Amino acid sequence: MQVNRKRVVSIGYTLRGEDGEIIDASETGEPFEYLHGASNIVPGLESALDGKSPGDSVKVSVSPEDGYGEHHDGLVLTVPKGRFGESESLESGMRFRAETPEGARIFTVVEVGDDEVKIDGNHPLAGRTLHFDVEIVDVRDATEDEIAHGHPHGPGGHDH
Ligand code: ZN
Repeated sequence: MQVNRKRVVSIGYTLRGEDGEIIDASETGEPFEYLHGASNIVPGLESALDGKSPGDSVKVSVSPEDGYGEHHDGLVLTVPKGRFGESESLESGMRFRAETPEGARIFTVVEVGDDEVKIDGNHPLAGRTLHFDVEIVDVRDATEDEIAHGHPHGPGGHDH
């Protein structure tokens, strides 16, 4: 069965950065599942996998515009520490959701100063060219539920 819309695809993958460093990878023996055509994965990878079959290997480099978007300096902000209220546990790497004029966005705390906190609303992989090595493990038709929800349900079925 070929990779196509309304099918759940299982892949083994390794994601590397510009210098070949591994950014992310699926666990050995535990493929990652996604619903094709539902924007579960970045557009550049999804289109590269279109029409492939189990056993196929795909190597693709995805530019930021087909990945997690360009990096916007305007989303790197310095805000007063007081904005976080009880901030004793505030530390870099923490992520939180905040409303912006363009809608809700996930921010990452970059730096915690004495009075100010530097936060970044870019996706951690924004502006990066992504190098994927993918092996198609399995392709199956999605269930009605999965199509309605826009994501695959694991072997245990519906758990949310
Ligand atoms: Zn669901």
